[in-house]
Amino acid sequence: MPKTKFVLIGSGLAGGLLAAYLGRRGYDVDLYERRADPREGNIVGGRSINLAISTRGIHALEQIGLAHEALQHAIPMRGRMIHPAGAGARTIFSPYDVDPKKCINSIGRAALNTTVIEAAQRYSNVRVHFNHKCTDVDLDGAVAHLEKIDGAVEAAVSAANPKIIPAHGDAVIGVDGAFSAVRQSMQLKIANFQYDESYLAHGYKEMTIPPGPGGSWRMEKNALHIWPRKSFMMIALPNPDGSFTCTLFWEFEGPRSFATTQSDDDVHRFFDEEFPDAVPLMPTLLEDFRQNPTGSLVTIRCAPWFYRGKVCLVGDAAHAVVPFYGQGMNAAFEDCVVLDECLEKFPDDRERAFAEYFSRRKENADALADLAIGNFIEMRDKTASKAFRAKKKIDHLLEAALPGIYLPLYTMVTFTQIPYAEAARRARLQDGIVRGGILLLVGICLLLLAVTIASK
Ligand SMILES: Cc1cc2nc3c(=O)[nH]c(=O)nc-3n(C[C@H](O)[C@H](O)[C@H](O)COP(=O)(O)OP(=O)(O)OC[C@H]3O[C@@H](n4cnc5c(N)ncnc54)[C@H](O)[C@@H]3O)c2cc1C
Repeated sequence: MPKTKFVLIGSGLAGGLLAAYLGRRGYDVDLYERRADPREGNIVGGRSINLAISTRGIHALEQIGLAHEALQHAIPMRGRMIHPAGAGARTIFSPYDVDPKKCINSIGRAALNTTVIEAAQRYSNVRVHFNHKCTDVDLDGAVAHLEKIDGAVEAAVSAANPKIIPAHGDAVIGVDGAFSAVRQSMQLKIANFQYDESYLAHGYKEMTIPPGPGGSWRMEKNALHIWPRKSFMMIALPNPDGSFTCTLFWEFEGPRSFATTQSDDDVHRFFDEEFPDAVPLMPTLLEDFRQNPTGSLVTIRCAPWFYRGKVCLVGDAAHAVVPFYGQGMNAAFEDCVVLDECLEKFPDDRERAFAEYFSRRKENADALADLAIGNFIEMRDKTASKAFRAKKKIDHLLEAALPGIYLPLYTMVTFTQIPYAEAARRARLQDGIVRGGILLLVGICLLLLAVTIASK
């Protein structure tokens, strides 16, 4: 019997990892990527330079024996280092968990991308083709149409259009990110395909804090730095070479925004007012601000994620989320594990495998989308407040006092594999109980006070 053949579109983070998983299962895999080979110096443009990887993502790498290789240069971040507003304000460290060993890890996107692609290429049944852009997919035929980008070498050229190459498979998997061409074909051809995209009013821009002398870090290395400023914020993640990548999340429009901050003086004034401790560490601030693109932040929800046993969506193509929980890639990696489990469970019925994968992931992807937007408000607005830090301390006290029973939401999302939707439900229940407990305690105190006064 001929081997099942998968055509994968997109060799980003999830595409590379999924190709490795499918390769290990013995499938024939052709992976097509519109960009050039990242090992030839092509920077993964338009996305963050580094990302935070946590338990879910690490688990997915461990399952295929890649965690050690991928994490060797990652930098553990044990908590948030908050930079309050105002010149001379002291930074405040807020650990992520009561257990200091629980941390998230800053990892380079390009290095991780190369690791997963190389892992896939170790299987002789996996072939990776760079410089091939998918234009659309014939869903019933499981055929992806690919346009060769300059420099691509390919023999099979379609007679109808000399630049378009058909890639025939038993199934096509769209791992082609938030603006997926595979998903667009599904939108066009599946009746009642549900699709929703929403953009934040904020965009993001990356800037650099270069290394200190001898490759040292010019701020605390093992922390995710945050400058919360109510309606906007800047964050910084450490890199192995001693630098930090800063990301400013700011309104596109408005009296103080990307749109109105045009001249060098405007940029300097804004940074001097808002991030005075960071400015001396950012010698290329103006160049970075001018040259680096301003990215948009989109949430995409769609359904279904599959068409018969022929087409399926994985990662951002199925569920792009805003980056404030640091979970988009982690969730995309978790998709790969779940899809692999479903293919194992239904080896002879791909449609059932895809359907089960969709039903296990959809509710969780929707829950993550909501959590990610909620965490933006928490990071930019609440982390600077005393009430927020007090709540975190209560969370950690309860977690220590009730191990395995009380788990803060951040802990469940970041340091466990509890499905996102269940974590959100459990956190709501816990919050209700804690709030009820506090009200009861206040009630008892007031009652005791009233009894004491009355008895005098
Ligand atoms: C600023 C920012 C910070 C982030 N930080 C974090 C973080 O800290 N932690 C975290 O877990 N997640 C983070 N994310 C989210 C994370 O980047 C994504 O969830 C992750 O990249 C999704 O992986 P993917 O493989 O599905 O998509 P992508 O990484 O986008 O890969 C898609 C691939 O498909 C290719 N492609 C696209 N269209 C075509 C086509 N038509 N034909 C062929 N190839 C195509 C692209 O070139 C790309 O290589 C962040 C995102 C942003 C924007």
